[in-house]
Amino acid sequence: MEQKKMVDYAYHYGLKVRIYPSQQQKKTIQRNADAARCVYNEHVAVNKEIAQFGKRSIYIDFIEKRIEALRERISTVTALKDRYPWLRHSDIDSLSIANARQNYQRAWKQFRTVHHAGVPNFHKKSSVESYQTNPHYGKDKKISLFTSNARFLDQHHLMLPKLKRIRFQGSRKMLDRLFAMREVRIGTITITKDGLHRYFASFQLGSNEPFIKACPKTKAEIGIDLNIENFYADSNGEILANPRYYRRQKRRLANAQRKLSCRIVRAKKEHRPLREAKNVEKQRLLVAKLTAQVMQRRKDFLHRTSTILIKNHDLVATEELRSRNLLKNHALAMSIQDNGWRMFLGMLTYKAALYGKNFVTVDPRNTTQTCNACGRIMNDKDKLTLKDREWTCPKCGIHHIRDVNAAKNILARAKAKLASMH
Ligand SMILES: [Zn+2]
Repeated sequence: MEQKKMVDYAYHYGLKVRIYPSQQQKKTIQRNADAARCVYNEHVAVNKEIAQFGKRSIYIDFIEKRIEALRERISTVTALKDRYPWLRHSDIDSLSIANARQNYQRAWKQFRTVHHAGVPNFHKKSSVESYQTNPHYGKDKKISLFTSNARFLDQHHLMLPKLKRIRFQGSRKMLDRLFAMREVRIGTITITKDGLHRYFASFQLGSNEPFIKACPKTKAEIGIDLNIENFYADSNGEILANPRYYRRQKRRLANAQRKLSCRIVRAKKEHRPLREAKNVEKQRLLVAKLTAQVMQRRKDFLHRTSTILIKNHDLVATEELRSRNLLKNHALAMSIQDNGWRMFLGMLTYKAALYGKNFVTVDPRNTTQTCNACGRIMNDKDKLTLKDREWTCPKCGIHHIRDVNAAKNILARAKAKLASMH
């Protein structure tokens, strides 16, 4: 019988747990992250050089030979290992190399579909290290969380390829639920070390049972207008502000970053190697810690908000986010906000699927300029500007709060879209 692949499963779930590797295991993780980066960068280097020759129909002989030799260098894993013999080290997971090759192909595909993704570029050695591996399920082995060479031993221990037994910590509630499910397949596993020297393992999971029980229907529907002044306005007239601690935290982060760049400049002036400059390293860690804190708080806020919306409504509607090109000229604050929105919409999408609810995005065109009561669209002469927080419709005379009116239009559009799909 053919084994099921990840795509064959009806439900998918991402599980991230913190792992606590020993010194030896840390070395193995480092080695595999180095291997993944080296292989990825080799692909980048080869293709960059080939691209330099340009697209010509006829090449001179030696260029043709050079291109052939370059292609050869990345054609097989053996060729890569011949060039970088250290890749043969017994601690190196062959799947870490295979995944790096695949990620390079994927980066190209990403570039071809979404242009702003950029062409694949070198992965610099940074404070964040990662590599990916996959479990191997034996032919007659049952598919579960406990049967492959990457498996759960108990609520606190994992077995991972090359790393062997490793301690971990995850949400007790989620683990109880996962362990009780009949068939769960582990897909790609990503091992990461972040800037604060914390280690994590992220598992892609697949199953034909839902990972979370569907929520009871509430018969409530809501439209959301995302905007810059606050986090959002909804079709019921509620306005949700951006969390205040977030701004305070960002100010602290900016100060710490300024101090860090001063210290780097000074160390360079005094010809001290950066890695040995203790005060630089100390400040770098502080910046990493503050950044992690800001991101975590932002994420917590987005998780809380999206869960409440999905659990309490059968239909949640937002606008589609515009392509990044349109945002290019806006301030940095705008693009940070934009990233938050993208994350938020991503959460709404997967939570709607997880809890059995509807999440619909609609074309935002004219949602602000259309009167929700009579449908009149404001024209060139009386178009609303960002300053007009409230307005009165010249046709039907109804008074609107701008963003709430927009949220109502978004909900109406989503309902029409949903009806046309059924
Ligand atoms: Zn009107």
